[in-house]
Amino acid sequence: MVQSFLPVLERIGEEIEGLAGRGRPADYIPALAAVDPNRFGMAVAELDGTVYGVGEWQQPFSTQSVTKVFTLALDLAREGDSLWEHVGREPSGNPFNSLVQLEYEHGIPRNPFINAGALVVTDRLHRLTGDASGNLLDFLRTESANQDLDFNRDVAASETAHGDRNAALAHFMASYGNITTPVPTLLREYFRQCAIEASCADLAVATGFLARHGIRGDGTRLLTRSQAKQVNAVMMTCGTYDAAGDFAYRVGLPGKSGVGGAIIAVVPGRCTLCVWSPGLDDRGNSVAGVAALDRFTTITGLSVF
Ligand code: GLU
Repeated sequence: MVQSFLPVLERIGEEIEGLAGRGRPADYIPALAAVDPNRFGMAVAELDGTVYGVGEWQQPFSTQSVTKVFTLALDLAREGDSLWEHVGREPSGNPFNSLVQLEYEHGIPRNPFINAGALVVTDRLHRLTGDASGNLLDFLRTESANQDLDFNRDVAASETAHGDRNAALAHFMASYGNITTPVPTLLREYFRQCAIEASCADLAVATGFLARHGIRGDGTRLLTRSQAKQVNAVMMTCGTYDAAGDFAYRVGLPGKSGVGGAIIAVVPGRCTLCVWSPGLDDRGNSVAGVAALDRFTTITGLSVF
């Protein structure tokens, strides 16, 4: 039960205090706009699952696009490389909900972490399992060892009510044959994933398989070592919207953010992190979250570079 990074987290918690509250919570989903931007929590999970943190590290929040990492891993584990015929792995350089690249790329999204790509991955996992969001929730409950994790039905309803952009993306890709689940079913599955609530502790532990080169918490293998590298690489290059270059420059770790204000990050072979603070910058990344991870790699020297 070693807590190697606790002093580092405590120092970061003090330094970041003034930054929580900067930025603005996402306002395009009304249920998220109501969250206080001053909140902050950060957790580290060691490879053996020991988890500890500072601030509100055990407070559940809306995970949003952070779940796209787990859906990708679950689908990749089942279908392998054929996934990459349906979604690319290049940074988009466009906002996460952009439609513009889809037409000239024939309905193939640039990567699995923009909304269009996540809709494709969800479609594929849903076809393989019959229950994409249920599989995801089961996986997160098991890996975090927290059976209380659940969907927030108000957030899912709020996203559905304001989901015209995602519906447009899904219909457009369906017109190219790159989505085959009926669009209303697919959107329900996608919004349920976004609406899962979990804490920094839950997500840091659940991300552990990416630091253990594909090995789940119970010692069984989810991904091959090569696939774990692939997921980490796509997080590094595409995980923080159209600011992935800046995130790599400042933090130097595979990371994935969500508009709920969370960011997960992986130090392969060493540990996983999750930070949460709902104030977002204009690209959609948590202001205090990026700063906290920047401090973590600066203080510890633990980036992948
Ligand atoms: N539910 C959000 C959407 O699809 C997720 C966005 C995000 O966290 O990037 O718009």
